[in-house]
Amino acid sequence: MKLSFHGGVRGVTGSCYLLQTSKAKILIDCGMFQGERLCGKQNFEEFNFDPTEIDAVLISHAHYDHTGRVPLLIKKGFSGKIFATPPTKSLSQYILADAVSVMEMNAEKCGDEVLYDQADVKTMLERVFGVNYHTEFELAPGLKAMFHDAGHILGSAYISLDISADETADGKPARLVFSGDIGNDDVPILPSTEPIHNADYVICESTYGDRDHVSTSERLDTLKDITRRVIERGGTLIIPAFSIERTQELIYALDTMFEAGDLPDVPIYLDSPLAIRATQVYRDFKHYLKFDRPIFSSSDHDFFTFPRLKETLSVDDSKTINNNNGSKIIIAGSGMMTGGRVLHHLKLYLSGEKNGVLIIGYQAENTLGRKIEEGVKNVSIYGDEIPVRAEIQKMDSFSAHGDREKLRKWLQSGKDKARKIFLVHGDQVVKTGFRDFLAEEINSEIIIPEFEQVFEL
Ligand SMILES: [Zn+2]
Repeated sequence: MKLSFHGGVRGVTGSCYLLQTSKAKILIDCGMFQGERLCGKQNFEEFNFDPTEIDAVLISHAHYDHTGRVPLLIKKGFSGKIFATPPTKSLSQYILADAVSVMEMNAEKCGDEVLYDQADVKTMLERVFGVNYHTEFELAPGLKAMFHDAGHILGSAYISLDISADETADGKPARLVFSGDIGNDDVPILPSTEPIHNADYVICESTYGDRDHVSTSERLDTLKDITRRVIERGGTLIIPAFSIERTQELIYALDTMFEAGDLPDVPIYLDSPLAIRATQVYRDFKHYLKFDRPIFSSSDHDFFTFPRLKETLSVDDSKTINNNNGSKIIIAGSGMMTGGRVLHHLKLYLSGEKNGVLIIGYQAENTLGRKIEEGVKNVSIYGDEIPVRAEIQKMDSFSAHGDREKLRKWLQSGKDKARKIFLVHGDQVVKTGFRDFLAEEINSEIIIPEFEQVFEL
């Protein structure tokens, strides 16, 4: 068999790996390359394989950097099957539809080209087979696959592929494991990442291969402290939202604090259409979640419908938030403050000393979020100069990715060591550091593959 790397090797986006046996060509993920813009220019280059020859695509999880080029693959002639877990299929419809809207907006504003449209997304989704965790499915003679819970976002999977002896270089059966993205430990609403039972080859993400996160309890203390401070001085706390997973974890954490009487009672506005739709998918698939308290028997039954939470899907509903002059929490997109409804709220509340902004994720260079994070005194929003007087707090450990220690433990969770570990989906310097770190701990060959590099296994 041959394994080649067509994305996810020059950074943290565009995941795309091709596995070829004598009988089938299988893609694992086909994600968008993302730069400062949602859709980087690399996406417009031709695929360096023939899409018409691909027999199947396996999708690890719904994030755009793992799914974003599947509609394009179909436009270029791919006619095979697509497999994903049922929650991944459901979340993907909203993520891809939202991405098309953003692409169309960029096309209108800046003349960018659009890769595909809503009809292409619909065509793709009609072809996705939902397969649950631990259900083996055959892709071709001598090639079987299975999804396992990766604990990264709802429905996220790492994927194992079992290859028969007649397809391998050494004439022995082999198992490959593709990590997708691996979640944190102790996520209060998700099951833990399942251990690798055994693997000969592991293709492993390295997003945070150079650092260890602070603990969950430290993270929750930061959230509680700033929320309480802002509420007690009568202010409004704005939390720029990353719609999938972090928003749901945040809502759950806030509900837990309210239930425990740790915070004064104020409304929480969820003011992001994508986050509202994603939260509905979390409700629909809550049997895939695992809570750290007996949520189904608690007084509010379900943290997704608790009375303080107000979802403002329409623009008119969103506008009513500002009629409430009292203390409140507003969770609104986009996470890096580059667009979306959060801008309206920042324009209104950034200049007030009693207010607060809680930054819960990575802020890329040249974004409004990065400027606010770095402490600028004034920002320009919709043409107005706004003084920044609100309290700014940063909490970067609200990440859906496992840290270096978590990845090491996961890589060592199989009963035998892997022969080769391929490090992908990380900045070059992070991958190099992670390789050196792992080399001290794990007695496997550790490889950082190049773009388009092919391995005969
Ligand atoms: Zn992801």
